Amino acid sequence: MHPRPDLIMLQCAEDEVQIGLDPRWSIRMNSLTPQQLAALLSLPASPILSPQQRKDIGETLLHTLQGAGALLPGPPASADESALLNPDARGWAHLCSHARGNDVIDRRARGTTGVLGLGRTGVRIAQGLATAGVGRLILDDDRVVQRKDLGLGGYSLQHVGTPRRSSSAQLIADNALTSSDCRTVPLRTGDSLSALDVVVVVGFGTLDPGITWRLMAEGVAHLPVIWGEASVTVGPLVLPGRTACWQCIDLARRDADHAWPLLVAQLVAAGTRNFVEESTLAGIAAALTVGHVLGVLDGRPPTRHGVMTEIRLPGAEPQQSVWQPHPECGCHTFN
Ligand SMILES: [Zn+2]
Repeated sequence: MHPRPDLIMLQCAEDEVQIGLDPRWSIRMNSLTPQQLAALLSLPASPILSPQQRKDIGETLLHTLQGAGALLPGPPASADESALLNPDARGWAHLCSHARGNDVIDRRARGTTGVLGLGRTGVRIAQGLATAGVGRLILDDDRVVQRKDLGLGGYSLQHVGTPRRSSSAQLIADNALTSSDCRTVPLRTGDSLSALDVVVVVGFGTLDPGITWRLMAEGVAHLPVIWGEASVTVGPLVLPGRTACWQCIDLARRDADHAWPLLVAQLVAAGTRNFVEESTLAGIAAALTVGHVLGVLDGRPPTRHGVMTEIRLPGAEPQQSVWQPHPECGCHTFN
C-alpha cells in the first residue's frame, strides 16, 4: 500500500486533519492521537506506507484512507512515476475512481484530432491537445506564417514566411512534454477524414461551406471556431446527424437576414485577409476548444447539444447560445 501521488494532507487542529482540498472528495479525520496525527501528516512525503505508519494510523483509519483514495494498493508502479511528471495525468487522477490519471492520458494517446487553420488560435489549440496527451494530430493550413501570427501559440520571427503546417508541427515536436508521444501528420489532398475522432476548423467570419459539406458527408464530429473582428465563437460541436450543423446555423441566419448567403460567399472568398486573432480571445477560444475536444476523446459527451460560446471584447466573458437543427437543412439524412 502507498500514498497516492499528490496527496494533500492539512492539519486543521491538534487532533484533526483534512485530506484533499476540493469539497467533492476532501474528508476530515478528527479525535486523532498524537501518533495518528504525526503518521498522517507524514504520508505525503512517503513513497510507501511503512510498518510504523500502518501501526500508528491503525486499521480503521487505514480503511477510511483507502476508501477516500488517499492510499492505493501495492507499491508505487512505474506508471505513477510518469504520472508525477505529467500535469494532465496528475490533474485527472483526482477524478478517476482508481486514482490513475494515466488511464485518461492513455485513451487520449489513441485519439486522432484534426486542426484545420493554423494561425495563432489553431496552433495554440494543437499545442494544447498535444500537451494534454492526444496521440495524433492532423494539421492543415496551406498559408505561411505572417507577423500577425507571432507570439501566442508559439510562432516566432524565424517562422515568418515558412509554411504554417510544417512550422506548427515543429513547434509541437520541440515541446518536451509531447515530443516523444504526439505524431503530427499533414492532411494530404484526397485523404479521408473519417478516421479522425474530431476536427477543429478555424474560420473567419463564417465556415467554408465546402469544408462543412465534406465533414458532414464523412460523418466526422467537428468544432467550428469562427472569428469576427473583435469576437470569436466556439461551437457548436457538430455530431453529424445528431446535432445542428453549421449549415443549420447559416439557414437560421438567412431566415433573419436575406442577404446572409451573399455575405457568406464574400467572407469565404476574402479568407483571413481582414481578420486578426486577438490574444485574449484566442487564448480563451483555444482553451474552450481543447476542453470540448478532450471531452469527445475522453468519452464525456456534452450535456447540451448545439451550444455556441461567444467571447467578445472588451469583457471577454463567454456567452452561450443554443442552435437547433434547421428544418430545411436535411443534415439528419447524413449517416
Ligand atoms: Zn444542418
